[in-house]
This record gives sequence, structure tokens and C-alpha cells, in this order.
Amino acid sequence: MTATLIADARLPDGRRADIRIDDGRIAEIGKPGSPAATGAERIDLGGALLVPGFVDGHIHLDKTLLGLPFQAHRPGDTVAERIAREKELRRELGYPVEERARQLIRRVVGHGTTALRTHVDIDSEIGLAGLAALVAVREAVRDLLDIQIVAFPQSGIVAEPGTADLLDQAIRDGADLVGGLDPAGIDNDVSRHLDVIFAIAGRHGVGLDIHLHDPGPLGCFELRQIAARTAALGLAGRVAVSHAFALGDVDDGEFGRTAEALARAGIAIMTNGPGPVPMPPVKRLVASGVAVFAGSDNIRDAWSPYGNGDMLERAMLIGYRQGFLADDDLELAFDLANGAAARVLGLADHGIRVGAAADLVAIPAASVAEAVAAHPPRALVMKRGRVVARDGAVSASVA
Ligand SMILES: [Zn+2]
Repeated sequence: MTATLIADARLPDGRRADIRIDDGRIAEIGKPGSPAATGAERIDLGGALLVPGFVDGHIHLDKTLLGLPFQAHRPGDTVAERIAREKELRRELGYPVEERARQLIRRVVGHGTTALRTHVDIDSEIGLAGLAALVAVREAVRDLLDIQIVAFPQSGIVAEPGTADLLDQAIRDGADLVGGLDPAGIDNDVSRHLDVIFAIAGRHGVGLDIHLHDPGPLGCFELRQIAARTAALGLAGRVAVSHAFALGDVDDGEFGRTAEALARAGIAIMTNGPGPVPMPPVKRLVASGVAVFAGSDNIRDAWSPYGNGDMLERAMLIGYRQGFLADDDLELAFDLANGAAARVLGLADHGIRVGAAADLVAIPAASVAEAVAAHPPRALVMKRGRVVARDGAVSASVA
């Protein structure tokens, strides 16, 4: 049995504690000096904040160009145009998905992410090759972080013949969830798009995570359609909609109707705190009973030259965009990238409590609010009781 004693940690509630870890799980939490330390390796945090591992609820491991020289962004005005630009770039660069994913994984682990949900492009050109690469990477890095894979129809389903069958096969090949994309904006057929993906989810007993950029009342109509199908199939707690810009772009009546439908159906909303576009109002959604969680989305890829996979910085960006200033609000922003994301992903053993997985991050800060505001490099990252990163960088022995 391997044992570690984490000494003099500051817990998120402000208490100081020592934590004993046995075989990758938290075995004891007590006042400094109280847990049995016999035979344990000792790591003294000197009062640093200790939090559960960050959870990136939305990333694209197959898209990033990290590892290549910086690539100039190729602009596209519409989602469809940007999809076309990305395909051009993909053909020109021929940069393997495994290498993209490994580059990005090294970054996110250094920032304290211990679990993530990645979407993977599936279309008639790339087929299931990206998925096969990520399934292999998921296995290769299982001691570094946990990965969920969403089969993502980046070019649409109705607009891209053959994709429906590919999505179905993707679940058989190891994808954990089925994705979707702008049923109106890309496929111009809300019912058919949703029929296909909900049928796959029902057939295989998997959840859904749908990209929705469609704006205003149209986007809210689609959200209510998703809610109706989620309720009909009994999928409460297993469906997420990513972006949902529409929720930040409608009047109070439309927002209220839609938020109520989402809450009743048990649908979660993912935001990355996007740039100058409408975004879901986080506090209003949470007050309506809707689970909200955070993700990085695009990182140094055809869609965005920005991003670094740091979920603590992401919490700051979301808080900044939402005008969060009080400690309570900064703590909410933190939770979107931590506990709330873990709940949406169904990570039952996430948290700092006896019996939970020892997925832990030490941050040189005196409180969660300070950590969000300053987002300093992580002093230590632990995955199932093993140190995998120090001072913001993955340990050479595990990378
Ligand atoms: Zn995305």
C-alpha cells in the first residue's frame, strides 16, 4: 500500500488540515498533526490552498495545433465558413491527432486538470480516424487524467450524408457520448438532426452534449426542443448543451420559459466565457436550477489562436465577462470549472472527502476567490495520489 501525508493544507472552506492518502484515495482528513503519518511520504504545503482537480467540461484535443509553430488565424464569418477553413488547414498540415492531443494534455495536466470531456470531429472526410486516435490516447494517459469523448458531427448530419451512421459506429468504437451541432444553423432541420442524435443516445444508452451557437429566439426554441426530447427519453442529468449563446440574447419571458424547461429536463449548460458574443447569464441560470459548467473549448486551433487549457484562468475569464466581483461570485466561477463540471460529467469520486479519489491541486493562494483572481501557477497536481505536475509543468517521469 502506498501512503502519502499532505501536511498543512488550506481547504476551500478555510480550515487547515492534514490529509492522508492510501492507494490513491483520501483515507483521512484531520487537524494538522492528527492523521496517522507512519510509513507515509510527507508533502508539506505550508498553508497553500488545496482543491479538487479541475475538470475541463469541453475541449477539442483533436483540433489543437500546439506543438507546431504559431499558425496565423484564417478568418471565416460564419460557422460554415470556419468549418471549411479548418478542413483546408487539416489537409495542408497533416498533423497527427495523437500528437495534437498529447501536446495539449501535457499543458492541461500542468494546470491541474484531472478529468476532461473532449469532442472529436466526425465527418465524411476524416471518418472515425480522429476517434480511434483519441481512444488510444485516452488509454495511454489514463494515469494522468480521465477522458470522456463526445462523437461530434462538426460538419453537420443532414448537411453531411453518412455522418449519422458514423456517429452510431463511433459509440460502438468507444465514444462515451453523442454530440450535435446547430440543428437549425448548420443542418436547417431541427427535427431531423435531433431525431438522429437522440435515437443514437437511446439505442446505446449514452448521454448527449450538443454545440449550439444558434442565436436568440431560434436558439431558445431549439433548447426547448432538446429539453422535450430529454424528458421523453428519461435522460435527465445526461444531456448538456455547450455555448447556448441564445440564453444571453433574449427577453426575460423567453429566457424564463427556456431556463424552466432546461431545469425541469435536467439539462446542463457549458460556457467558456466567450468573447464579444452573447453568453448565458450564469447566476440567473443557477438560480433557475440549471447546472452550469465550464470548458476551454478551442485552444490554439483553426477556431481560435487563444487558450491554454488553464481552467482556473478560465474561471477568471468567465467571472470577468459576467461582472463577478464578490468572493461568493468568484467561488461560483471556480465551481463551474471544478465541482459543477465533475457533477455534470458524473465523476462520483471527485472532491475532498474521505473515500474520494486523491485528484488534488495545491495553489499558492489564501482562498478560492484569490486563486481565481490571481490564477497563479499550480504548486502541485496529484492524480489518484501520485504527483503528476509541479510548479505548472508535468513531471518528466510521467509525461
Ligand atoms: Zn466546442
